[in-house]
Amino acid sequence: MELRKDPVTQSWVVLGKRDSLGEAHDCPLDPEIVDKQPAILSYPAEGTWQVRVIAHPDPLYRIEGEPSRLAEGMYDKMGATGAHEVVIECRQHDKRMSQFSDEELDRVLSVWGARIADLKKDSRFKYVSIFKNQGALAGEEFSHAHSQITATIFVPRRLKYELSAAYDWYKEKERCIFCDMVRQEEKSGKRIVDVQGDYYALCPYASRVPYEIWVMRRRHNHLFEQPRAGSNRKHLAALLGRVLRRLEKVAPAFHLVVHTSPNTRSKKGELAGYWKTLADDYHWHIEILPIVEARSKSYSIKEVYFNAALPEQAAEQLRAIDPNS
Ligand SMILES: [Zn+2]
Ligand SMILES: [Zn+2]
Ligand SMILES: [Zn+2]
Repeated sequence: MELRKDPVTQSWVVLGKRDSLGEAHDCPLDPEIVDKQPAILSYPAEGTWQVRVIAHPDPLYRIEGEPSRLAEGMYDKMGATGAHEVVIECRQHDKRMSQFSDEELDRVLSVWGARIADLKKDSRFKYVSIFKNQGALAGEEFSHAHSQITATIFVPRRLKYELSAAYDWYKEKERCIFCDMVRQEEKSGKRIVDVQGDYYALCPYASRVPYEIWVMRRRHNHLFEQPRAGSNRKHLAALLGRVLRRLEKVAPAFHLVVHTSPNTRSKKGELAGYWKTLADDYHWHIEILPIVEARSKSYSIKEVYFNAALPEQAAEQLRAIDPNS
């Protein structure tokens, strides 16, 4: 595996062939198999685990190596140094995240946070991504409920866009762009799908796909992995569960990503400019991108998203769905 940077778009691309794992026989994430392998983390730590983190059996990134860049004429490349882990979210093979109890969901959220915090101790890593692809249309890698974690020596491009937009907004207004967004959405209510405590689920104003949902807390915090006092993550777990149950009625698959602040232990490279106000200008959130059948109604034309569903109508429709039925 190697990383190459597109000098025009500044995107890093992972290049190389991966083995096809296949799931012909036993599920590689079932407890009988996983219990024979070293665990990175188990939760609960004592007794029977519900959530377990293991190294990805066919990783995109490998932990060894130094992130040194090599020039190839005008181009930049690096070895694919990083971490790639699998979070097994429950022991049962046929249980989807939407079927988890609030407590089970809360445990998954805690494990995500714990892994981000731990991986950020390694100053080589500039960003830790948590993502979940559920359903064949989302390209899920295993059918067993799981999410994945990657720690990379670069900040993914989408994050860089968000960081620089948040930085610019703050520089001009001395306010967090995400806090401003939640306040406006709160006021209008049109695009809010559900609320629990301080946590909001909303269809973003410029939704890229039908039923796109962002889940965020109305109080400011740039670090998902470091809940502030009184942030009551049980509310987040309950809200996320209801959101997933609603989405299940309208879309067979989804991508979910946690967006949190990059690693400030990493002291070199492209992050430098964002540092001073990062804690004030960036705000963690979870983005869920459902995939409606066969991408018939949402696709990108000439790289501009086209979405046939207005977020106001999507939010209204999702609000009307009973998440407990
Ligand atoms: Zn399984
Ligand atoms: Zn904020
Ligand atoms: Zn984001």
